[in-house]
Amino acid sequence: GDSAPALQIEGLSVRYGRSVTALRDVSLTVADGEVVTLMGLNGAGKSTLARAITGLLPAQGGSISAGAITSFGAPLTRRSPRAIVRHGVAQALEGRRIFGAMTVAENLDMGGTTVGANELKANRSRMMELFPRLAERHDQAAGLLSGGEQQMLAVARALMSSPRLLILDEPTLGLSPKLVTHVRDTIRAIRTAGTSVLLIEQNATMALAVADRGYVIEHGRIVHEATAAELRADTGLQRLLLGLG
Ligand code: ATP
Repeated sequence: GDSAPALQIEGLSVRYGRSVTALRDVSLTVADGEVVTLMGLNGAGKSTLARAITGLLPAQGGSISAGAITSFGAPLTRRSPRAIVRHGVAQALEGRRIFGAMTVAENLDMGGTTVGANELKANRSRMMELFPRLAERHDQAAGLLSGGEQQMLAVARALMSSPRLLILDEPTLGLSPKLVTHVRDTIRAIRTAGTSVLLIEQNATMALAVADRGYVIEHGRIVHEATAAELRADTGLQRLLLGLG
């Protein structure tokens, strides 16, 4: 693939208003084709990092006070969320931010507004293969899906824009062990298809089962960076992520 990293963040600091500094001097890289996980407790700054990448900070009252974010060699800062999707960076939002009154198919199409008609069609069939459960429920209101199915829909919707970098914010939150396994396998399939992934997770076991490398964030700072194998062997890390650290 490309030699430029899918994502390169250097010295990033983010504030909400004047008083809250949510990220301090964060540096993080996702190489082209890599799956990288960002792990940390509630409030550590994970969602803030995702918003900074995808241009969603201003809508939350946040702003970048220092640092740079580039993706495949191009700067992402100061670009609109739509321009960032068009550049090839898409995010599946935490939780269930799908449109409940719209059908599954309509929700999927909402994710594909930056691609042409042929690609949209191809992506629709690909999503039906990747998520058979969504195929079965294609014409149903998305609000009738189970929590797990809505999470899947959020991931599928992000993939509809043919991203080169997919950002997943806690895709397994509240899922049954069986669905967690499904999400894990889906991330592997996405990676095999050539898409780089930044996986934000609190479930370290799941994250380290698919990631090549990982970062640990604590109080807005990166405190640890290592290969997934090293992180799997780190019992101190497991304790930290369970809130025992
Ligand atoms: P969670 O998993 O609970 O979402 P997180 O690791 O994603 O946690 P963030 O949501 O990024 O953490 O929050 C980081 C810090 O920024 C926290 O102190 C939080 O209170 C603060 N914060 C987040 N969003 C806002 C906002 N819109 N306005 C002000 N402060 C915010």
